[in-house]
Amino acid sequence: MRTPALPPSRLPTRIASAILLLCCLTACQEEREHSADLFIFGTIAQVKLWGAGDEQANRAFAEVQQMFQGMHRDWHAWQPGLLTDINEAFASGRSIRGDPQIVEMIRRSQDYERRSGGRFNPAIGELVGLWGFHTSEYPIIGPPPSGAEIDALLAHRPSSLDIRIDGLQLSTANPHVQLDFGGIAKGYAVDLAIARLRQLGIDNAIANAGGDLRAMGRHGDRPWRVAVRKPGGGVIGAIEVRGDESLFTSGNYERFRQDARERYPHILDPRTGWPAQGLVSATVIAPEGLAADAAATALIVAGPGDWPAVARDLGLDQVLVIDEAGKVHQTPAMAERVRFTGNVDHVVVPLGAKPVPEPGAE
Ligand code: AMP
Ligand code: MG
Repeated sequence: MRTPALPPSRLPTRIASAILLLCCLTACQEEREHSADLFIFGTIAQVKLWGAGDEQANRAFAEVQQMFQGMHRDWHAWQPGLLTDINEAFASGRSIRGDPQIVEMIRRSQDYERRSGGRFNPAIGELVGLWGFHTSEYPIIGPPPSGAEIDALLAHRPSSLDIRIDGLQLSTANPHVQLDFGGIAKGYAVDLAIARLRQLGIDNAIANAGGDLRAMGRHGDRPWRVAVRKPGGGVIGAIEVRGDESLFTSGNYERFRQDARERYPHILDPRTGWPAQGLVSATVIAPEGLAADAAATALIVAGPGDWPAVARDLGLDQVLVIDEAGKVHQTPAMAERVRFTGNVDHVVVPLGAKPVPEPGAE
């Protein structure tokens, strides 16, 4: 913001121009954008700050990069670290000490698993591994696991609700609970990054990992503008971010297994053990990244019939999904915000079209 100067007519000319110059320098410095590409979970997050000083920005980028590295190490589902230690302890019936962030992810996951009727479930690590999705190399070529292998894992009914939390101490009586935070890690990561930036005195920022993002404040005199991704790459539209909010998209088009006949995307329906079908993408806007990320994953599992009811049960109001025919379905609150790029076949759907069945009732 420019600081208003005293009317120059009431000051000697040289002092007036000195003040104006000073205001301009401060304003130019404050209004500068700082941007950095930081590594997060094997991809890049572009972090932009508005109105920060050079030193403040450099310190912020260094700290956030360090945080992302720590998360990559501690939350990895298959490379040795704190989460794999926790999974080993669960498998052998031992209790183990987590850390505050992992405990928070478990607590929040339990809530999302309950409210989504078991569609979001980060305890299905064994199933994700069976499908071969514990890899960074996509696509995976080869046939799916057999129905018998899948059913054998499902019979153990792994659930985040099986985890007992006592302070930071974690335990479960179900040795088949294996945590995989792939469905919320990025969301929680941007929440923690934005919180740290705020602590460092930064009020305007965006952390954008390939279209999954959290933002706060504004980009100077206008809001942050972000793209809404569409299946197969590219952009379907744009949204102006209002203050502090997050936008996450889950899709079945980037990471999948493929054999000669079919594609098997990486988001699994924990109730059947098979990849979720029917929606190619789900985009959610919510205040917190963790909430938007978990919800987008749950809505892909909910599919074309159930997503409005599941969205309602998760307390969402801004959702956009794309079906296999490429048609966009969106809630009224989302429709008010998205500006489509080009002609897009779309329809507005009210929330909560149908109640969500209890887990096991389907
Ligand atoms: P996202 O891209 O946020 O939808 O997350 C997908 C990732 O979450 C997958 O690669 C798995 O690691 C994990 N995952 C797959 N299915 C589920 C599910 N039903 N609930 C929770 N996490 C899942
Ligand atoms: Mg997700």
